[in-house]
Amino acid sequence: MRRNIVAGNWKMNLNYSEAVDLINELNAYDKPLNTELIVAPPSLYLGAFKDAQNNLLLSAQNVHTELNGAFTGEISSTMLHSLSIPYCIVGHSERRTLFHETDALIFDKVKSLLSHEISPIFCCGESKEEREQGDAYKVISQQLNLLLSKLDAGQIQQTIIAYEPVWAIGTGLTASPEDAQLMHHHIRKEIAQHFDVSVSENISLLYGGSCKPENAAALFSKQDIDGGLIGGASLDFSSFISIAKSFS
Ligand code: PEP
Repeated sequence: MRRNIVAGNWKMNLNYSEAVDLINELNAYDKPLNTELIVAPPSLYLGAFKDAQNNLLLSAQNVHTELNGAFTGEISSTMLHSLSIPYCIVGHSERRTLFHETDALIFDKVKSLLSHEISPIFCCGESKEEREQGDAYKVISQQLNLLLSKLDAGQIQQTIIAYEPVWAIGTGLTASPEDAQLMHHHIRKEIAQHFDVSVSENISLLYGGSCKPENAAALFSKQDIDGGLIGGASLDFSSFISIAKSFS
């Protein structure tokens, strides 16, 4: 179902006591928000945080394609399901670049999550060079291709898509609201072409890449932008909440 979402990707940050402090602050925030709040802490903390959540829904940051076995250091969809974790980020540019994850591998993760009732937060985004060469739309279509051609309508509607231009992640550079809207519109149009408009209108599309309290409202005011995937600014309670309050 399409809804406003602000999701925080903590990445490999915060020691346990810092993480507990931030979760407690977020849990204690009881003002109404017309936004779904998600946090993705390091997987080590998911078990401890799962019962503490009040306003918050939890996401993992990664998952393996296999369900169990000799994969030292990995976690599986069955493990996340056993903790009732509702979301998992996949296809983040750091995983694509630093861990050499391919579209095919990412798609196997998506399938594994969906078959365990976990919604993927699927990230896609072009590099600076790709944008400069005029290839941004082609790259995003390519990254989405397996999802759009192989998932069914029910599965794609379980999926959240985050457009995260790689050049904007952690750099302080942000796509302009107009450019972000154009790409979100492109993504929604591609979904409509593979399925239909009722399906594409039912999916939440998030923007990610140096989203901050200062720019969130302008981004979220755009028609096809349903919220944000937030890295750095999600590590600070006030910034994260201020972003979550940025919907008009
Ligand atoms: C991210 O890593 O998904 C992200 C959007 O990071 P930042 O907000 O720090 O650019």
